[in-house]
Amino acid sequence: MNLILLGAPGAGKGTQAEVICDALKIPAISTGNMLRAAVKAGTEYGLKAKAAMDAGALVSDDIVIGILKDRINEPDAQNGFILDGFPRTVPQAEALDAMGVTIDKVVEIYVADEKIQQRLSGRRVCEVCGNSYHVDFKPTKVEGVCDGCGGKTVIRKDDEPATVLDRLKTYHEKTAPLKDYYAKQGKLVTVEGQEEVSETSKLTLKAIEG
Ligand code: ADP
Ligand code: ZN
Repeated sequence: MNLILLGAPGAGKGTQAEVICDALKIPAISTGNMLRAAVKAGTEYGLKAKAAMDAGALVSDDIVIGILKDRINEPDAQNGFILDGFPRTVPQAEALDAMGVTIDKVVEIYVADEKIQQRLSGRRVCEVCGNSYHVDFKPTKVEGVCDGCGGKTVIRKDDEPATVLDRLKTYHEKTAPLKDYYAKQGKLVTVEGQEEVSETSKLTLKAIEG
């Protein structure tokens, strides 16, 4: 099963991608995580991507499409995958179609903008493995320490309030049109993000089964 998770930054796509990954045993592929790893490693496309990411803008389609294509050709992705944060523009969705990838379902996690701002201010990420947490909704067992690897959890640079506004604007302009794109193909299902993460997870799994 090939799935796409759609939603504004901070709507909880990453968390839901992990839930689906555990339930269906297919890898969750996050272009955001891959790009952050590339920035950290100082690779050529990491250097190109960094400025756009820090500013809350999108990285260019050709870079992102290139890394996504390589990733879905890996052996572990041959029985299906969940895309978290890709596609983010209509040209990226068209590129996916051109690769011959069949998408079974697109799950939109909907959270209103006001809530998004509140959520992102509490988000923390592990600087070692990239795991994502939230001080209220998904806290680490020990404050400031990643449950997964023991690394330090920090505030992402692009989660600063001013940058969040830019990211939301980018989402509405560039990414939200994908809802129409996939609704026309009859693939879009919308899940309303709940206060309780576990409640959202139940709705997500139901949306995939149904
Ligand atoms: P979020 O969904 O919380 O905004 P991500 O971790 O998915 O964060 O992405 C972080 C940043 O990485 C984005 O703001 C953007 O700059 C870049 N990025 C990730 N995926 C894409 C994509 N498919 N196309 C363009 N830029 C991307
Ligand atoms: Zn970690």
